[in-house]
Amino acid sequence: MRLQSILMGKADDYNHNITSMNKINAIGLFSGGLDSILACRIVAAQGIQVQALKFVTPFFGHDLLADEARFQQDIFDKYKIEAELVDLSEGYIELLRKPAHGFGKNFNPCIDCKILMLRRARELMEERGASFLFTGEVRGQRPMSQQLDTLQLIEKKAGCQDILLRPLSAKLMPPTLPEQQGLIDRTQLHGLAGRGRKGQLALARELGITNFPAPAGGCVLTDPILAARIQRFYQGLFAIGQEGITAEDICLLLIGRQFRLPGGHWLVLGRNEQENERLTALRGPEDWLLFMPERSGPVALLRRAAVTVAAEEQEQVKLALWAAGLVVRYGQKTEGRPLAGNVLMEQGGNQRKLCDVAPLPDELFKDWIV
Ligand code: SF4
Repeated sequence: MRLQSILMGKADDYNHNITSMNKINAIGLFSGGLDSILACRIVAAQGIQVQALKFVTPFFGHDLLADEARFQQDIFDKYKIEAELVDLSEGYIELLRKPAHGFGKNFNPCIDCKILMLRRARELMEERGASFLFTGEVRGQRPMSQQLDTLQLIEKKAGCQDILLRPLSAKLMPPTLPEQQGLIDRTQLHGLAGRGRKGQLALARELGITNFPAPAGGCVLTDPILAARIQRFYQGLFAIGQEGITAEDICLLLIGRQFRLPGGHWLVLGRNEQENERLTALRGPEDWLLFMPERSGPVALLRRAAVTVAAEEQEQVKLALWAAGLVVRYGQKTEGRPLAGNVLMEQGGNQRKLCDVAPLPDELFKDWIV
C-alpha cells in the first residue's frame, strides 16, 4: 500500500515522521565495490532496513552462485550488510545480442545492463514491499554511464524515476521521492562527484570500513581480450547454433584453451586440475569429453558434438583424432616433448572409446587457437 502510494505520488498518505513508521525497507544494488558498500551503510545508518542485491551473470559474479551462503556470510562479516545474489543470466544473454543503447569501449552494454538490473530491482521492490531503490553510483565517475543525463535516462527507461536514490551524490541531484517524503534525511547524504576516490576513502574511514576490494573490473565484458572473444562468439565463431546460447556456454568460453576446429567445432582444453574439473562439471549431454586415463593432462570438451558432428563415421573419426591429438599434445611431457598415448573419449550415454594417438603437430592446429 505504501509503495503504491509512493509510485502514484500520494505523498499525503504518509506519515512523514520516520520514527513513528514501521521500519522502512530499501533495496540497494550491490556490486561489492567500495561505492556500493558505502551506499548501503549510509542508508542503513538512518535506521532503514537494507536488502543488498548482487546481480550475477556468466559475465560477472557467476562463481558466487556455487556457494551463496558463504558469500552472504562474508559480506555480513566484513560490512554488516545483508546481501543476496540475483541471477540475471537469461535476460542478459539475450540483451547482448543487440543492446538498445549500444556498447562501450569493449563488448560492455553498460547502459542497458544498468536498465536491466534496475528493472529487476524494481520488480523485487514491489514484490517485497520496499520503499525505494538506491545505488552506489557517483555522478561523473565514469565517462558515459554516470553522467547526469545518462543516469536520468537509465532511471527513466527502468521505470525508476523518483524512487532511485544515489546516496553518494544525492546532494548534487534533484531530491527523490523518498527524500521528499522524509523516508530518508537528505542532509545526511553526500555530494561526491568525479573520478577521484578521496571522498569515498574518507567516508570509509569514518564508517570504519577497511577491508574493501580495490577498484577493478570484475566484468569480463570490459576486458579487451575476453570481450573480443565473447563478441566473436556472438557473431557465430563456432558451429553450435546461435539461438540457444546458454550460461554454461559463456562459462566454457571463459576458461581453458579455446580451439575452433575445421568445420567450426568448438573444443575447450583445461589448463590445470581446477579447469579440468570445471569442464567435467559443465559437460552437457551432447558434449564429448576426452582425457588420458593413464597420464596427467588436459580434459577436452567438444561442445555439442552429438549435434554438430556429421553422422558419417569418417567425419567422426577425423574429429576424434584431432581432439585426442590435442589432448596428448598438451599432456604431460617426457624430456620436454609430448608423447603418444591413450585417450578415452566419452561420447554421451555409455559410449566410450579408447584410442592411441600421436600428439597433433603445432603447425596443424596453430590457426585453430582462438
Ligand atoms: S561494466 Fe559490466 S556489469 Fe558494469 S555496467 Fe557495464 S556491462 Fe554492466
